[in-house]
Amino acid sequence: MRDGAEPGSLRPVKILVVEDQKRLGQFLRQGLTECSYTVSWVGSCAAAEDALCETAFDLVVLDLGLPDGDGLDLLRRWRKNGFNEPVLILSARDGIEDRVKGLDLGADDYLSKPFSLEELLARVRSLVRRHATAKQVVLEHDGLRLDLMKHTVHVDGVPVDLTSREYALLEVFMQNQGRILPRTLISEKIWSSHYDVDTNLLDVYMSRLRAKLEGPHRKPYFKTVRGVGYQMV
Ligand code: CA
Repeated sequence: MRDGAEPGSLRPVKILVVEDQKRLGQFLRQGLTECSYTVSWVGSCAAAEDALCETAFDLVVLDLGLPDGDGLDLLRRWRKNGFNEPVLILSARDGIEDRVKGLDLGADDYLSKPFSLEELLARVRSLVRRHATAKQVVLEHDGLRLDLMKHTVHVDGVPVDLTSREYALLEVFMQNQGRILPRTLISEKIWSSHYDVDTNLLDVYMSRLRAKLEGPHRKPYFKTVRGVGYQMV
């Protein structure tokens, strides 16, 4: 298995690196990219917030001393807003109090600067692996059941036949129940591309999925949020 793929899948693992030191940021981006991770690198709290809104990252490498704020405040906000992917703190502050504070706020690991790239890569690998196995195998929502291991979908116990794209689309919603998902984010997950997928295509898939899952007597599973995207309700 390549480092950069999620265990059990071929989907690339996306890592957000938040680090304001230019040389270190470049070094991290290069080191992680060479291990086949998909890396975005930003240098401020504001840019990190934007990046996390736009893309679903699988892991964040977070520096604490940033030009426009403290990484710990970012982390606190993310966890409060339900971001639950692993966060690895990278900091020159190596006092025990800072470590404890970071871990208390929901960081998964803490690496003091200076560090070796090998150690960082080992920590990243272990976090990705741990998180993948901790993920739920069966997702459920209001009579809807999606089994990630068997790749099956049931509505009220009755099997539903979905194409692989329809299945992938449903999985995105099941993993983000109640969240309003922007069209760009959905398209990126389903078609794994950054360029604009023909937006009609997403609507076509949504109506197919609705037709297969929503019978005449049940309330809709999906809500169209005009100008934004869709929400699983
Ligand atoms: Ca810094």
